[in-house]
Amino acid sequence: MKRMSGGDCSGGFIPVSRKSAAGTRDHCGLARRHPRNGHRSAVAGPTALSRTLDGPHGRCYTGRVRMILLNPKQHRRAYRDERSRELMLRTIDFFERKGKRRLKADDRARIWYADFLEFVKQEGIFATICTPAGYGAPGSRWDTWRICEFAEILAFYGLQYWYTWQVSVLGLGPIWMGRNEAVKRRAAQQLRDGGIFAFGLSEKEHGADVYATETTLFPTGEGTYTARGRKYYIGNANKAAMVSTFGKLAGTGEYVFFVADPTHEKYECVQNVVTSQNFVAEFALHDYPVTEADILAKGDEAWNAALNTVNIGKFNLGWASIGICSHAFYEAIDHAASRRLYGRYVTDFPHVKRMFVDAYARLVAMKLVALRAADYMRAASPDDRRFLLYNPVVKMKVTTQGEAVIDGLWDVIAAKGFEKDMYFEMATRDIRALPKLEGTVHVNIALIVKFIPSYFFNHAAYPPVARRDEAANDDFLFDQGPARGLGKIAFHDYGPVFAGYDLPNVALFVEQISAFRELMTAATPDEAQRRDLDFLMALGEIFVLVVYAQLVLENARPYAVDDGLVDQIFDCLVRDVSHFALELYGKPSTTPAQMDHCLRMIRKPVVDQARYERVWHDHVYALKGAYRMND
Ligand SMILES: Cc1cc2nc3c(=O)[nH]c(=O)nc-3n(C[C@H](O)[C@H](O)[C@H](O)COP(=O)(O)OP(=O)(O)OC[C@H]3O[C@@H](n4cnc5c(N)ncnc54)[C@H](O)[C@@H]3O)c2cc1C
Repeated sequence: MKRMSGGDCSGGFIPVSRKSAAGTRDHCGLARRHPRNGHRSAVAGPTALSRTLDGPHGRCYTGRVRMILLNPKQHRRAYRDERSRELMLRTIDFFERKGKRRLKADDRARIWYADFLEFVKQEGIFATICTPAGYGAPGSRWDTWRICEFAEILAFYGLQYWYTWQVSVLGLGPIWMGRNEAVKRRAAQQLRDGGIFAFGLSEKEHGADVYATETTLFPTGEGTYTARGRKYYIGNANKAAMVSTFGKLAGTGEYVFFVADPTHEKYECVQNVVTSQNFVAEFALHDYPVTEADILAKGDEAWNAALNTVNIGKFNLGWASIGICSHAFYEAIDHAASRRLYGRYVTDFPHVKRMFVDAYARLVAMKLVALRAADYMRAASPDDRRFLLYNPVVKMKVTTQGEAVIDGLWDVIAAKGFEKDMYFEMATRDIRALPKLEGTVHVNIALIVKFIPSYFFNHAAYPPVARRDEAANDDFLFDQGPARGLGKIAFHDYGPVFAGYDLPNVALFVEQISAFRELMTAATPDEAQRRDLDFLMALGEIFVLVVYAQLVLENARPYAVDDGLVDQIFDCLVRDVSHFALELYGKPSTTPAQMDHCLRMIRKPVVDQARYERVWHDHVYALKGAYRMND
């Protein structure tokens, strides 16, 4: 496996020294010169790394703890080029300069983020990140390695900032995937000019049922059409440079993707359907004129563009959850570790420690899984489409784990999580969105269960997939080909991945997988159960955990996650399988034979108090004072 030089995935190492338990946060808000333009940065520099971490009960812990969570004030992720590093640091700097007070005030007042979009324009951020190689300035490329982190940083500061970028990504998808070179060149120029984009797929009456799309192009002559229809829930559709709009051709019923211009008189931006800083529009096309020059794709290509765009875009929702949880975690541990009740710190309560350890273990797992899935996205080709399983796993599982993390942290910090000056207050609201958008949890599980037979029984040898951090354009993502044929995708054998770890809870998890696999072979779901979505959801949740655990293990060593933390993560995963096994047990159609297998899956994690305490001290409590956003 390839190793990076000069840093890890986001935070590098935090050296921990033996000092008193005074608990200062002197690094927060330190200023330093910006590396390029010399202006004072709002982000603390490397000096922030030399700091004291206080142990509970006045004790101190020393050592070097591998830091996998994003810490914007100790930002040292390795990049293969300077421009990538620069745009991450500039973005962090923008938000730290803006400060939490204004960030929250804008959120409360639902102010359109013109300042952020102006910054994006001045720095050419979206132009660099969202223009495939060959269409933009040097350094511009579609590079999932840096996109992951950019998404994480934006959501770390506010989902609203992430959203205006995310729907631009979606809007650009059908443009870059289509064959309309003139529109591609126009999009590249609009990105350079600071433009944002929109993805007009959803309609009010049809939700996930895209087949029922009503927006229609009526032919009006040689290569000309008039478009009629309404779209609903379309982010950025108030100000987008172009709105990629999905519809059908009158007469043939063929699908079509075309671009619409919100400034055209036949385009009506009807309303913002939400109350937030985002503009999530209802818009109407009133005999809007379309020519072949506006058309991105027709027929199967248009359909594939819709699905393949969502394939790319929905992955970013996992990163939004990771960003939200990371910021919320810093706030929560700071609050709980400084608050004294009944003469002791809140972090001394055993149940509070447990909730923090669980939240941390889940958050680290989320990040390992999403990073690993990105490797498979970048390694994808017509002969290796495994990412089509890993991607929806990120979408539905990382985002729902994000909810679990925030739920746990909120139970700890209680009233503090409501306060207007806390990032946490936004987190409690925004974390709920991510499992629901761009395909609900159900839609993604319905997709994921299609892979069960191949994952367990159709194995193939693939070249090893290393960490994919190269400065390359991800060409295949825009040339994925037909969205069908999922059942034919073969997977590498997951067995050796699990066998590579000699840890008690990994071993227990493997026994749970065996019981699940036996359920699939010895008590195979019958035809009626295979049509019963309620039954499939419970089955799918267990399967997702197997894939999720595989991705955790594949990335734990490359990211130097110590065995104690891996075993702690599997403590959670063993309990999660038990939880969903009980769900499956209780479904109306589960047979007695299947119920027996479910009972075999219900296991208690292996208890190891020393490991648990180490994770608490070295990883969790150590984050006290590690990050606080500038006021
Ligand atoms: C803030 C916000 C921003 C958005 N931005 C955009 C945007 O920019 N562009 C855009 O095109 N859309 C956008 N959307 C729309 C979003 O993608 C839809 O919400 C999504 O497609 C689901 O539709 P729905 O919420 O109406 O649920 P429905 O489709 O009405 O689903 C209802 C229920 O049926 C279940 N269900 C539906 N289909 C299936 C299935 N096949 N298998 C199993 N269960 C199923 C769902 O899980 C859900 O529980 C946005 C939505 C919101 C709220």
